[in-house]
Amino acid sequence: MDSDSAAPDVVHRTTCRICGGTDLERILELGPSPLANAFLRSTEDFAAEQRYPLDLYFCGQCTLLQLLDVVRPDLMFRHYLYVTGTSTTMAGHNQAYAQTVCEVLGLTSIDLVAEVASNDGSLLKCFQERGVRTLGIEPARNLAALASASGVETVNEFFTRSVGEQLRATHQPARAVVANNVLAHVDDPHDFLSGCRELVADDGLITIEVPCVGELLDRLEYDTVYHEHLSYFSVTSLLRLCDRVGLSAVRVDRVPVHGGSLRLYLSRSTGGHSAAVRALEAEERLAGVADVARYRRFATDVRKSRTALVGLLERLAADGKQIVGYGAPAKGNTLLNYCGIDTRLIPYTVDKNPLKVGLYTPGTHIPVREVSALVDGAAIADYVLILAWNFADEIMRQQQTYRDRGGRFIVPVPEPQVV
Ligand SMILES: [Zn+2]
Repeated sequence: MDSDSAAPDVVHRTTCRICGGTDLERILELGPSPLANAFLRSTEDFAAEQRYPLDLYFCGQCTLLQLLDVVRPDLMFRHYLYVTGTSTTMAGHNQAYAQTVCEVLGLTSIDLVAEVASNDGSLLKCFQERGVRTLGIEPARNLAALASASGVETVNEFFTRSVGEQLRATHQPARAVVANNVLAHVDDPHDFLSGCRELVADDGLITIEVPCVGELLDRLEYDTVYHEHLSYFSVTSLLRLCDRVGLSAVRVDRVPVHGGSLRLYLSRSTGGHSAAVRALEAEERLAGVADVARYRRFATDVRKSRTALVGLLERLAADGKQIVGYGAPAKGNTLLNYCGIDTRLIPYTVDKNPLKVGLYTPGTHIPVREVSALVDGAAIADYVLILAWNFADEIMRQQQTYRDRGGRFIVPVPEPQVV
């Protein structure tokens, strides 16, 4: 919030944000890095750019993988460039999501769906189309304004327990409280989930979607680590959190979005976690997700992957090949900064989000151009490094013209691969 602006930019916490424990081992150092969404407007901004530690820690007590260096939230979330509506993959995901929630809860026109971190309102629109009432809560001023202007009532706040209490009083208890890709962003997940618990109706459900740490480990998705993502949850660590807040997990789905996510359905009932959820937790433990050795091996593999990617790009550049980027996602900035890939290897990248075109990537200062730059002009780049690799299939399909002219793609993780 603005009242925090006298607070330091970054605070290093010394305890786990779920269990309060101090048995914390540093697993991987990816920084110091600038904020992954802090794109720069002009070359004059380069000198003033701030960098913060970006290190992953594992809690030996509750198994949560997390960042302990916490950047002040208003520096990251008051103006946000990730607009949900820009991706067709996400649009399909939103439609399917709304349908599932409406069916599971049997929602009708008297019911309210509240979404925390509702972005530009894209998902809530899908609920409106099904005749359900909606309420958005979004801390980014620009996105809250965009959503409200398009007919999705949106409160411009960071979500907390007290905001949850207030909204329950001013609106009505929500049959569904949706929180996608936000729990991992908050430094106090107890307060956040307590707010969801306050807002949800007794016969309602809270649905939480978070990237799955198992996918991060298995697919070496280290570039999904950035300052905004404070927690990297597993079913195991999420259940420890729910236990503390007084919520029961009634169902868990695995969803193939953002490189592999978990969707949990939580209820105020005191019946405890369902057998299916417990089974998934047991399965996860067998895969080593609760064991620090698995995380140490991950760190070793990440360092190898970096060496391989930088080696490939340098060899291509030495052969006189031109390489450009596709996408300017936050994750791309972790990858570029960690690997030290800047304009010497990639003169520009392209992105579909018009808010990013014309800006420079944080830390590596690569200009962002329109997607049409890939095929404009007589010569095309020999290779396109796909920074938005979770949309790689969609991107390669859309870039038929570039492929027809002989262009090739590089997918950077888990191992760099030329397609
Ligand atoms: Zn812990």
